[in-house]
Amino acid sequence: MNLLEDPWVPVTAGDEPQQITLEELLCSDVSYALSHRRDDMEMAALQLLVCLVQAILTPEDDRNLLLRLEKPLDRDRYRRAAEAKKSWFDLNHQTTPFMQDRDAKDQNVTGIQKLLPGLPEGDETACLFNNKDDIQCLCPSCAAIALFNQATGAPSFGGGFKDPLRKANPITTLVFDADLRRMIWQNILPSDFIRNRFASHNDQRRDEPNWVDKITAGEKLNTSRIGLVRGLFWQPASLLLSWERERDTCSGCGAEAGMRVRFFGKRKFAYTLEGPLWPHPHSPRVLAKEKWFPVTYSNDIPPWARFSDIMIDSDEKEPALVLQHYRAIAPHSPLVLSVGGYSNKQALITRRHHDMITIGAGWPEHIDDIHGRVRLALAYGEMLEKKLYGFGENCSKNGKSFKANARDLFFQRTEALMHQSLQETKWDEEKAFCLDLAEKLEQVCRDIFEEVTTPYLSQPKGLKAYSITQRTLTKAMKDLRKPLEE
Ligand SMILES: [Zn+2]
Repeated sequence: MNLLEDPWVPVTAGDEPQQITLEELLCSDVSYALSHRRDDMEMAALQLLVCLVQAILTPEDDRNLLLRLEKPLDRDRYRRAAEAKKSWFDLNHQTTPFMQDRDAKDQNVTGIQKLLPGLPEGDETACLFNNKDDIQCLCPSCAAIALFNQATGAPSFGGGFKDPLRKANPITTLVFDADLRRMIWQNILPSDFIRNRFASHNDQRRDEPNWVDKITAGEKLNTSRIGLVRGLFWQPASLLLSWERERDTCSGCGAEAGMRVRFFGKRKFAYTLEGPLWPHPHSPRVLAKEKWFPVTYSNDIPPWARFSDIMIDSDEKEPALVLQHYRAIAPHSPLVLSVGGYSNKQALITRRHHDMITIGAGWPEHIDDIHGRVRLALAYGEMLEKKLYGFGENCSKNGKSFKANARDLFFQRTEALMHQSLQETKWDEEKAFCLDLAEKLEQVCRDIFEEVTTPYLSQPKGLKAYSITQRTLTKAMKDLRKPLEE
């Protein structure tokens, strides 16, 4: 199957899910939306589409990009672009199979389920919702998406296999649009934006994926020499899918296909990466101790609370390049962000994430205002955690669990309020808005405090701890509100 020619994009146009070609998606005026049973596969399919279009149809500048957004692409224009690069994107190519390596044939043969992050791999890891043999076979579409997802956004297979170029569990942030064709273009970077940011763009050096321009075992590579296309499709592992010409129902998406894959070979392949973290255009980065790190998921912090890490541009923080670029082309519309990734403990995936955040129109100019709202809410959350920690220590020497409970409840109860707050656009009344937000946050904190402490009021220790904490809580909330009232 060739990703530039054959139908594989899992979509719906409001009816039955189907697989269409990239040409149909980019060149027709039908409004399609992605559709897959697994939310992480849907997010990965979007990223794969963005990377494919970036690789074959990079527009020269914003003017060209806006034309692409406006109307579907001419079919001849698409076919010429696809023809030039099609040997890179054939899943079963004789010499350069997509994201694979023929040298991995029959090596360390593994069940295909291992390509889908977070599914159990043996009897002992099966759980209530997933069995070790849920995924028996994949259709070419699911196999391509899973291969890409594993290589670019999930932890390595462990045991000496390398992590993706942007490390084990990066947060991906992409611009969302209900129309898939438009959504892809909104996440594409034009040549003039890329030029000084990536090696080998528009110069004589090659910018080819690493299954075409291969690296050799033991090689030392510098990340600053990795071009945009090479980095977007970086395959850290050496593997090969085993295709069977057999009609079967895909256990990934439920589609009937004439080809299936049940196993893949994987070969240990060592190389060394030197230099700074490659600036992946779909992920934010943070600087710590003079080194760049990817922003990753940690615990169960909701994405609104990560606003600073994914949206703020400073000396220590860098939002994904697609957002830095999008800021310039659409400053007057709201920004809908699709945020996704995995939480992990080493090679084990503990949770899948896929969330949406909407940020009100005018956000590029008012980013500090929005950040202020987020910081205000986080300050209330932290204060509540501290107070309930103190209460827990005073009445049962169990501060830690009170603190964790306070945190969970605070994030649950403020989710809707904070999503609304990110969308508010009455910029002239920002101060009044923040004061109102502070009052609502106080109410949430008070309610949680009462709820958590009530069961302890029948004990003398509990009653005493309650009255101390109630007093300090009121004082702390007053202090938080004070700067807003001045
Ligand atoms: Zn499938």
